[in-house]
Amino acid sequence: MAPEFLFVLADTGVPPLNLIQYTLLAQFHFRLTKIHSDTLPATLFKTFNKPLALNNLHPSTLDYHIRNSLHQLHIDPLVDPLPHMITLPQKCRERAYRNILRTTISTLWRMELLNLAPLHLPHNNCRKASYIHIDRDDLHRRDLFKPAQYLRSHLDQLLLLRLRTQPTSYIPSHLHLANDHTYIPYDQRNCPSCLPIQIVGNEPHTLLHCPHSSPLSHPDILSLTRALRRYDLCSWSSHTPLQQTAILLGSRAPKLLHKHDKA
Ligand SMILES: [Zn+2]
Repeated sequence: MAPEFLFVLADTGVPPLNLIQYTLLAQFHFRLTKIHSDTLPATLFKTFNKPLALNNLHPSTLDYHIRNSLHQLHIDPLVDPLPHMITLPQKCRERAYRNILRTTISTLWRMELLNLAPLHLPHNNCRKASYIHIDRDDLHRRDLFKPAQYLRSHLDQLLLLRLRTQPTSYIPSHLHLANDHTYIPYDQRNCPSCLPIQIVGNEPHTLLHCPHSSPLSHPDILSLTRALRRYDLCSWSSHTPLQQTAILLGSRAPKLLHKHDKA
């Protein structure tokens, strides 16, 4: 998958198709075995669903896909995931189960994303690493099915989405083709304003460090500094350059983010 699609999906809260499929099949299994277990489809499922090991099932069967989904999500098909809700209406139980699955899927997806850019790697070695290092705090929101905070705010969402997902020409590291349409490796996407000094024109450089473009961020930094002081949060200068970049690109200050994670 091209990085920009991966970034758009992560920011807008749309999990990859394979994870959505696991969720739907696990919900289907829950419905057949725990909610509507006395219906005809459930009886047929019980009759034909032999307790075979996963590798003895044919990969073209629905049974295989259901069992594989449960396996991927670490769900024991024989255990009721909501024993404390047994007396509640079926609709409530289905909704509660769906929410449990969302948390599981969010955790799996977050691990997938964070593994693309381990913390010990420099954040400027590729576009994916840069995105994940800047978005790290947003990706830790509990429910990744919800869009990132800035997409649920009054901010200029489309502009921020474009800057964060890297299809722009404003930030030199977003440009993967040179004028002659040849590919430029990430670590050679230098800031044109700083030449002949060769420095990658990534987000922190362009917004915070570049003597030519960073003055454009100063009014925003000033109002953010005031806002952090007003809400009694850590000062602007106590944040790392990556956190400052993330805040300029619409992320909430880390402390505020954790406070509002349940929102
Ligand atoms: Zn520069």
